[in-house]
Amino acid sequence: MNLKPISYILRIGHRPERDQRVTTHVGLSSRALGASGMYLAADDQKVSDSIEDVAHRFGGTYFCENNVKWKSCIKQFQKDGGKVVHLTMYGLRLQDAIADIRKEEKILVVVGAEKVPGDMYELADYNVAVANQPHSEISALALFLDHLYEGKELELDFPEAEIEVLPTKIGKTTIKHTEYDKD
Ligand code: SAM
Repeated sequence: MNLKPISYILRIGHRPERDQRVTTHVGLSSRALGASGMYLAADDQKVSDSIEDVAHRFGGTYFCENNVKWKSCIKQFQKDGGKVVHLTMYGLRLQDAIADIRKEEKILVVVGAEKVPGDMYELADYNVAVANQPHSEISALALFLDHLYEGKELELDFPEAEIEVLPTKIGKTTIKHTEYDKD
């Protein structure tokens, strides 16, 4: 299944000494909920590798690019025809903006960690709030992607997985696929 618009994440403000867990979860949550990859605007190869390791084992083509320059990433994305959605508690209401965003071909969803630079609000094509209340980049991103894809992201397949989880009423069931299984 192909979800539209294609979405990518740009993580800004990551501090390696305190944001590793949250940034990893930004990557894993966005992967599970339909995004295609994440650009990390900080040098933290460990976080990038751990996201890609999970992506590799559980299937699909999600990537994490370490150490991008956030402004160049945004400008290049817009030059290539994409639109930038900045998630911020100060933005327009998700429920008012989402129909227009759904019409775009590809979007870059920007989430912060520490205080977001002022020019981010000007560079964004859309500043969007998931409720105009402070909370977390993980919850904002999860709700945003679910509203964007209207629940279809829950039907996604993750091809070429080494580990497949089978839905189970009680307990845990997984299948381990070998290279041979994948062909
Ligand atoms: N204190 C920071 C500031 O003033 O810019 C924000 C910190 S917040 C923990 C980290 C990120 O979560 C924000 O940059 C934003 O991307 C996201 N976020 C938090 N609340 C949000 C909301 N209500 N709607 C959309 N995004 C939100």
